Amino acid sequence: MTSLPGTSPDPLNLEQELAGLAERCDACRHCGLGSSRTQVVVSRGNPKARLMVIGEGPGAQEDETGLPFVGRSGQLLDRMLESVGIDSNRDAYVCNIVKCRPPDNRKPTVLEMAACRPWLERQIALVDPGVILLAGATAVEGLLGIKGGMTKLRGQWRQGEGGSLEGRWLMPIFHPSYLLRNPSKERGAPKWLTWQDLQDVQRRLAQLESSL
Ligand code: SF4
Repeated sequence: MTSLPGTSPDPLNLEQELAGLAERCDACRHCGLGSSRTQVVVSRGNPKARLMVIGEGPGAQEDETGLPFVGRSGQLLDRMLESVGIDSNRDAYVCNIVKCRPPDNRKPTVLEMAACRPWLERQIALVDPGVILLAGATAVEGLLGIKGGMTKLRGQWRQGEGGSLEGRWLMPIFHPSYLLRNPSKERGAPKWLTWQDLQDVQRRLAQLESSL
């Protein structure tokens, strides 16, 4: 990892390294999810982006297409990011805690998240994001080991300590599937709060950009 996260991704071998990582994920059977998936779902977006979005795991549409966050939840997240000027394919690298779909869209187990962790660590080290958006409680638990309600966790900046997270800015937000179930845009509603959080993320990205 570079000394200043999000400032100097090495473009030379990045695509090659990520292609190699995708191949290794494709061959991976480190947990049981590898035998029930249709295909592995590694990432979409721009690996040179300063923003990384991490969700829980692939759903049915992701399992079918091989791309993360492309179902209804992903489309909502894309629209919300767009509303603060962030294009999820141009300005973000999008991935998940686990790369294979848990059957019946259940939450991945602690063991499955731990088995998949090295792939995520490698993605973070290669993409070298300055800001990581954690979509939903499973993403927070899977990356930071923190369990808790998103009402308390969301919108609170954390700075990563140690390993691949050192120095990176982390922002938990409500998972977009929760926002689909709570569509009110009224002040104080989950959707309104998420919009505040995303504006905050946009400000942080602009700050990082201006400090280069
Ligand atoms: S979920 Fe991760 S650890 Fe499990 S088989 Fe898929 S790639 Fe491997």
